Amino acid sequence: MEELLRTIFETFPEKSTIIFKGKCSHCGVAVTIDIIPTSGGFGLLGGAFVECSTDKYVAKCPDCYKVNSKMVEPFITNPNVLPIFDKKNLLSSILSTNLQMSEQV
Ligand SMILES: [Zn+2]
Repeated sequence: MEELLRTIFETFPEKSTIIFKGKCSHCGVAVTIDIIPTSGGFGLLGGAFVECSTDKYVAKCPDCYKVNSKMVEPFITNPNVLPIFDKKNLLSSILSTNLQMSEQV
């Protein structure tokens, strides 16, 4: 995960915060996660990423993350409704979100 986030920041060297927009994999609420580099790695505000299986990630809202910070069981997550990202999908989703925002400025 850290390697992935580092790649994103290398893509947007001028940004101090990268934003992920998606849905909580557990309750489906919209989540906006601010990703901020810290001295020890990365800080996430507004939600969290959870490793679901090897190289797959889901986003969780803070409430669901508090209840269960572990991976989402596959039978709970419906891939047709709630997004599961592999690294490439997660990366492209974040890139497109932040590219759109750059264009709007
Ligand atoms: Zn949730």
